[in-house]
Amino acid sequence: MNTGRSARLHAEALTLTPGGVSSPVRAFAPHPIAIGKAEGCRLTDIDGNVYTDLCMAYGPPVAGHACPAVVAAVREQIGRGGVYGAPSEPEYALIRRIRASMPAMESVRLCGSGTEATMHAIRLARGCTGRDGIIKMEGGFHGAHDAVLVAAGSGSAQCTPGSRGVPAAAVGNTYSVGYNDLDAATRLLEAGGIACVIVEPVMGNVGTVLPERGYLQGLRKATEEHGALLVFDEVITGFRLAEGGAREVYGVTPDLATLGKAIGGGLPIGAFGGRRDLMENIAPAGDVYAAGTFAGNPVSAAAGLAQLEYMRADGRYARLNRTADAMVRGLGDVIADRGTQACVSAAGSMVSVFFGLDAVRDGAQAQRADRQTYMELFRHMLGHGIYMPPSALETSFLSAAHTEAETAQVVEAFDGFLGARR
Ligand code: PMP
Repeated sequence: MNTGRSARLHAEALTLTPGGVSSPVRAFAPHPIAIGKAEGCRLTDIDGNVYTDLCMAYGPPVAGHACPAVVAAVREQIGRGGVYGAPSEPEYALIRRIRASMPAMESVRLCGSGTEATMHAIRLARGCTGRDGIIKMEGGFHGAHDAVLVAAGSGSAQCTPGSRGVPAAAVGNTYSVGYNDLDAATRLLEAGGIACVIVEPVMGNVGTVLPERGYLQGLRKATEEHGALLVFDEVITGFRLAEGGAREVYGVTPDLATLGKAIGGGLPIGAFGGRRDLMENIAPAGDVYAAGTFAGNPVSAAAGLAQLEYMRADGRYARLNRTADAMVRGLGDVIADRGTQACVSAAGSMVSVFFGLDAVRDGAQAQRADRQTYMELFRHMLGHGIYMPPSALETSFLSAAHTEAETAQVVEAFDGFLGARR
């Protein structure tokens, strides 16, 4: 595989931007692969190599890259101008769609990214309860703002304990507990002063980790009992696990939720919303501040709406989940046949392989997985035309553009990897 152009671009990029990348998780040795084009479930790098994409930009293009319906919507809207600084129809059309798919999202505010969404949702929870404390899960990732950069997952897991440059005061009210540890969360809630529990209903930033039976329901009950708000961070799971997100799959309704990724159809976006009585505290209706030049961007909104409508049609979520289930079974069979100590953890089209573990229930366990073997797998797959996320602590994603042909390719390459290691 010739990746000379990527190598040369990266050598220059190192002089242009820290680490040569715009976001840390994209960096890997010897150099990242620069992408020239993405279509359906395929990436073409700038040297012309083609890959089946299992990274899928960490989640947004759930319909596949350059989905024709999304491309058409973007063309149509960008020709009318990219940003107005005034209300426009696409943003309300997207909000209507979100409300129709997630009825408890009674009121929704659009913003520019998932990071902004969780930042605003936490400020709102604090503003509404008059309390400062927040509970997050170890390995839970809610973006790159100060209050949540504690024991966080994703690229930040490389930094300990969160990030240098975060003032102690900014995280003095942030408490981390183990995911799936309802007792630990309940004890903190009992101690008082907690504005909200923010949780990825399915963890996606330490690989995929599933909620145990009753866990999300338990968080719902405990937050209610102690006057705290439950915030689901559905930036990954929203409009991915199902049209109605994790709340639909697990039957638990949070007070507030954040969305991002899929609702922008591949363009930048975020959203937070939930109970109207809470949301009415957001400016200008109320005095909890949230604002942004790109909030409700009409091009992002048009792209997102086109993707969500595409996914709703023709049972595409069900088909996507079936395709993913078949791949998960295939990977599991390979692990069993090869006698490798590893497990596959998956929720719908979110899929992870953890080496050296039989099961994973929280972020601490996920971090103990054999990450070196994952990176060997990553390189093996790259050599076999499959682009996985370049970190053991990220989730692989499928899209509606993936078919049995690609999942068979993945399973076969995975079998080749385990076979060669024996
Ligand atoms: N929440 C979750 C669950 C995420 O996975 C991410 C990003 N991976 C974010 C928030 C932050 O979103 P963004 O990168 O759009 O700021």
